[in-house]
Amino acid sequence: MTQTQAPVSRLPHVEHGAQFTDTLVSATWTPATGWGPATRGPLTTFAMHPGMIGLHYGQVVFEGLKAHRQVDGSMAVFRPRDNALRFQRSARRLAMPEVPEEMFLQAVDAVVAADGHHIGDDPNVSLYLRPLLFASEANLMLRPANEYTFMMMAFVAGGFFGSAVEPVRVWVSRDTARAFPGGTGDVKCAANYAGAFLSQREAQMQGCHQVVWLDAVEGRWVEELGGMNLFFVRGSGADAEVLTPELTGTLLPGVTRDTLLTLATRLGYRSGTTRLSVSQWRQECADGTITEVFACGTAAVVTPVGAVRDGGTEWTVGDGAPGPVTMRLREALLDLHHGKAPDPDGWMYPVSTGGLHG
Ligand SMILES: *Cc1c(COP(=O)(O)O)cnc(C)c1O
Repeated sequence: MTQTQAPVSRLPHVEHGAQFTDTLVSATWTPATGWGPATRGPLTTFAMHPGMIGLHYGQVVFEGLKAHRQVDGSMAVFRPRDNALRFQRSARRLAMPEVPEEMFLQAVDAVVAADGHHIGDDPNVSLYLRPLLFASEANLMLRPANEYTFMMMAFVAGGFFGSAVEPVRVWVSRDTARAFPGGTGDVKCAANYAGAFLSQREAQMQGCHQVVWLDAVEGRWVEELGGMNLFFVRGSGADAEVLTPELTGTLLPGVTRDTLLTLATRLGYRSGTTRLSVSQWRQECADGTITEVFACGTAAVVTPVGAVRDGGTEWTVGDGAPGPVTMRLREALLDLHHGKAPDPDGWMYPVSTGGLHG
C-alpha cells in the first residue's frame, strides 16, 4: 500500500462536531396538523420549556450523514435515502412520528445548498449533516408526546487525506452493555450514547480509544465499537475474506458497513457476516488467521484497529499497523464519496439548490 505524503488539512484543529455552520432547517408535528412546513433559518439558540418530554424521558432520535465536494466541483450526499429510512425506523421504535423521506431530502438539499461553501473545494473536509427529532411537548406524564420537532443542522468535519491513518487501541467492556435483545441497540436514539459514555471514559483511562461492545446475554460475541461497526479480515492478498458481525437486532446497521460489504465484493474479496467471540478474536490474531481489523462509520470512515485490551490481556492485530485490505477499502470508499469512482448503485445524491424558504 503506497502511503503518499498527504497535504495537511487547511482546517485549524477544531474538535469534531464543534464547527457548526449557519443554517438550521426545522419543522413541527402535532397530531392535529401532522407535519407543518419545513423552514430554513439561521442556526441559533432556541427557547424550550423545561418540562419538555424529550428532555426528561429521552424521546430523541438522530442521524448522521455527509455531503462531499465532487471532483467536478458540485456537492453530493452519500446515501441520504438510507439515513432517511433508518431515521424513520428509529422514530417508530420510540413511538414518534416519522419524517417523510421527501421532507428529509428537502432538508438535506437546503442545508447543503446554503452551507456547502463552508468546505470550499477542499477534499480533506466534508459537511456532516445532523438530523434530529425530539419530543417538544411540555408535559411530564409518562407517555409519548403530542408535539415533535424535526431539525437539521451541519458541522464541518475534518481531514481524511490530510490526517495520517492512526490505528486505534480498543478496550473490551465487561461490566456494561450497550444494547440487549428487545432494546434499542439497532436504532439511533440519544439514550444509547448517554449509556455508553462511562465506559468510553473507562476505555480512555485504560489507554484505549474506543469500547468494544459484546452481546449482553452471553457476554461473548463481538458486536460493535463505540459508535462504529467492526470488520475482520481473514487471510491476505486475493484470498482475503472480509467479515463483519451479523445484525442480531442489538447492533446498529451502519450505512458504511453495508457499503463496505458491497465494495469488498467489488474489489474481489469474499465478504459476508459472521459471529465472532472475543476469545476467537484473540486466538485468530495469535495464529495469524485474522490479519486485519477495522472500524467504520460515517464519522470514522474506515479506521484500523491495531490492538485490543481485554481485562489484563492485550494483543495486537497483525503487526499493529494499518493493513492493505483496510487501506484499499478505505480508498475505494473515499473515491466513491468524491465522485472519483463509478457509482453503479446510485449512492451519491447530487444536491439540488433552492428548495426551502427562510
Ligand atoms: C451511527 C452508528 C454506526 C455507524 O453507522 P453509519 O451509518 O455507518 O454512520 C455504528 N454503530 C453505532 C452504535 C452508531 O450509532
